[in-house]
Amino acid sequence: MSAVASPSRKALERLARERILILDGAMGTQIQGLGLSEDDFVGHGSGHACRHHSDHPQKGNNDLLILTQPEAIEEIHFKYAMAGADIVETNTFSATTIAQADYGMESAVHDLNVEGARVVRRALDRATAIDGKPRFVAGAVGPTNRTASISPDVNNPGFRAVTFEDLRKAYSQQVNGLIEGGADVILIETIFDTLNAKAAIFACVEAFEARGVALPMMISGTITDASGRTLTGQTPTAFWHSVKHSRPFTIGLNCALGAEAMRPHMAEISSVADTFTCAYPNAGLPNAFGQYDEGPEDTAKQVGEFAREGIVNVVGGCCGTTPDHIRAIAAAVAGVTPRLVP
Ligand SMILES: [Zn+2]
Repeated sequence: MSAVASPSRKALERLARERILILDGAMGTQIQGLGLSEDDFVGHGSGHACRHHSDHPQKGNNDLLILTQPEAIEEIHFKYAMAGADIVETNTFSATTIAQADYGMESAVHDLNVEGARVVRRALDRATAIDGKPRFVAGAVGPTNRTASISPDVNNPGFRAVTFEDLRKAYSQQVNGLIEGGADVILIETIFDTLNAKAAIFACVEAFEARGVALPMMISGTITDASGRTLTGQTPTAFWHSVKHSRPFTIGLNCALGAEAMRPHMAEISSVADTFTCAYPNAGLPNAFGQYDEGPEDTAKQVGEFAREGIVNVVGGCCGTTPDHIRAIAAAVAGVTPRLVP
């Protein structure tokens, strides 16, 4: 690679050798708590009118709130920063043309990513002005709602709803927007199909080479079945071997599982990966209503055990976690020696 490591990579690696770093928690639960209406989502009334137009309803398009309710989004990021997060994710999980097609909002994708990074930076600068701690903007890149490896049509196993090249193009637009907005890290998360993730990694490498500077990548898979594999059938070890060529800052797991069920899979990744590891489980498993009811202390106790077992370098929360969960997790791992990278 012709790109040199960014200052953020050096700073994060130095910090990660000193202590366990904290990633933020879920956006979805916090956004739900705002009780926003369709008018709020599109920015009528109290919000900022969106200059992008779509005929589809926008309620539920959480990423769009970056443009239409930026103060509310900044406040959530700020709460996570003050709860102890060193690394805070942009609200851009679905900010690709592929994922935004569901809402007819493809035209907003560039702005979503640029502003998505800027709004986190504003929140983090406010927090740093208070306590002097450095903090990092992680540009969040989701899996999209399509898979490049599996046919959605049972009668046509060769069919693909999306190709590697479609994904590479969409991710390229997203990643370039995130970098333009000031992201310090690119976090490729909730990977259920490693081929999708490889398209995202490829887009990152192209963007880094074009600029001559390589941001640190955090790569996080998700285990979706009881046998401990990703949707496309990889074990944690296979997943690591498929992405290690990209020399990520962290490799790990998020979502789908609570901490308890994630533990053996994280231990496996920790035993094979020669880079830093990152775990951010859900607040337990969803109940019958799809809600997460594991409290901050419960999640923190289990994540604290990950730390004492020496299998993690970065920890945070996924679905159902709140600033209180992140505060409890930060307290649970404070002073625990970080995992030694083999
Ligand atoms: Zn999740």
